[in-house]
Amino acid sequence: MNSPETLPAQRLRLAELRITNRFATLPGDFYTQLASTPLPSPYLVCGSEHAAGLVGLDPGEFAHPEFIAAFSGNSTLSGSSPLAAVYSGHQFGVWAGQLGDGRAILLGEALAPAEPMGTLELQLKGSGKTPYSRMGDGRAVLRSSIREFLCSEAMAALGIPTSRALCVIGSDMRVMREMPETTAVVTRMAQSFVRFGSFEHWFYKDRKTELQILADYVIANSYPELQGAARPYHALLAEVTRRTAALVAQWQAAGFMHGVLNTDNMSILGLTLDYGPYGFMEAYDPAHICNHTDSHGRYSYRMQPRIAEWNCYALGQALLPLIGETDDVYDALSVFKPAFESSMQRLWQAKLGFGSSLEGDAALIDQLFALMAASRVDFPYFFRHLSSVKTNATHQDETLRDLFIDRSAFDAWQSDYRQRLTLENSDDAERKQAMDRVNPKYVLRNYLAQLAIDKAQNKDFSEVKILLDVLQKPYDEQPEHEKYAALPPDWAAGIEVSCSS
Ligand code: AMP
Ligand code: MG
Repeated sequence: MNSPETLPAQRLRLAELRITNRFATLPGDFYTQLASTPLPSPYLVCGSEHAAGLVGLDPGEFAHPEFIAAFSGNSTLSGSSPLAAVYSGHQFGVWAGQLGDGRAILLGEALAPAEPMGTLELQLKGSGKTPYSRMGDGRAVLRSSIREFLCSEAMAALGIPTSRALCVIGSDMRVMREMPETTAVVTRMAQSFVRFGSFEHWFYKDRKTELQILADYVIANSYPELQGAARPYHALLAEVTRRTAALVAQWQAAGFMHGVLNTDNMSILGLTLDYGPYGFMEAYDPAHICNHTDSHGRYSYRMQPRIAEWNCYALGQALLPLIGETDDVYDALSVFKPAFESSMQRLWQAKLGFGSSLEGDAALIDQLFALMAASRVDFPYFFRHLSSVKTNATHQDETLRDLFIDRSAFDAWQSDYRQRLTLENSDDAERKQAMDRVNPKYVLRNYLAQLAIDKAQNKDFSEVKILLDVLQKPYDEQPEHEKYAALPPDWAAGIEVSCSS
């Protein structure tokens, strides 16, 4: 997993941020230039110091009226040329045609010294209608903005590639969802917001020139190492496929479910993108569907790897005119399975405290998941506590066995597991340390997000801030925040999250 972020020494005032917009140098058909719609009486809900640090911004700026004006969309940062990008996509497996930034405005990119690519794009989400809004109102509600903000920062702290979130700015303005809700604007950051659907857009319009312009743009700005490749578009597809496979393996290991894995929500950089009705696995059920709107479970936990691969095929189809031969497309896509399987194996191994895999481990892992599913065992709680198992103990670990209905079946598994641990070179203390670095103690459970949202809807943003702080150190013991690591209360099972946002 990534090492924890350290805040850089640089502390820029907002006015000192150097903003440019490379995307705006693409031909006009790729976007519409327009300003955000003003947000009435905006106020700060929360800012992420870590995200600010990525562009060297002083978090002391958060409370300044200029900051709130800029990230509510009420003023334009110097150097920014705001625009909404067009893209298309497959939604729930069906070609949906043109979509685009229906409620997002790309401001441009800022210099990001800590970012391998050197810049991060800043994008407002919920900042008003664009030509791509279709039936939507261009807004995002406070509830979904807080969920996106917290999860972006939580995923980054877990070491999972993701777009980041700088801040949430709220307003008392209401929009209609299932009921009237207050709105907010969340500022996202990523090296690029180009999606698989950005390529599908030009493919389905039969516009090979634009397809190539986009591919060259992505290679030059995000994959410069591929510029000299003999077959750059083949190499691009293979690399995106590899990153996507590695990403979805990390999701599975974290129990993260995206909820809407449409091709327009798939990042060309292999980042987790577009947080909507996502969820973290709690009571383990491989068929779990986190999105209440997904009635057929296309995007259930166990389907995610297959869907991610399906989405890579959709990208491969879109890149076919550039790659030339169908066989070459298949060749690039063949990267998915081995990349996913090797990442997945490595991640499960690490979660179980195995230094390397041995024959028989696959059976041990399968048995564990069958037992966990039968008892709907809490996924993060179980893995975090697994590091306490002692190799040579004479009694079974009570905290763990109490999670299972069939305790004797779990006792048998635990005996086999201990037996397997005797083959490890590390002692119990070393293994515990290593396991605690990959099995988070603090996870953004739906009910924790909901409690923070309930308070925020009453203008108390303290819980959002506490949760952000807790989730920024997910692998650490935080004794003062023990309650955030507890098993969820019974009412948590009743929470439903849908596409409404
Ligand atoms: P999503 O399912 O959130 O990824 O959104 C799919 C498409 O619908 C994207 O093009 C979004 O920009 C657009 N969209 C979603 N909600 C809204 C909204 N409230 N107003 C305008 N466009 C929206
Ligand atoms: Mg989307």
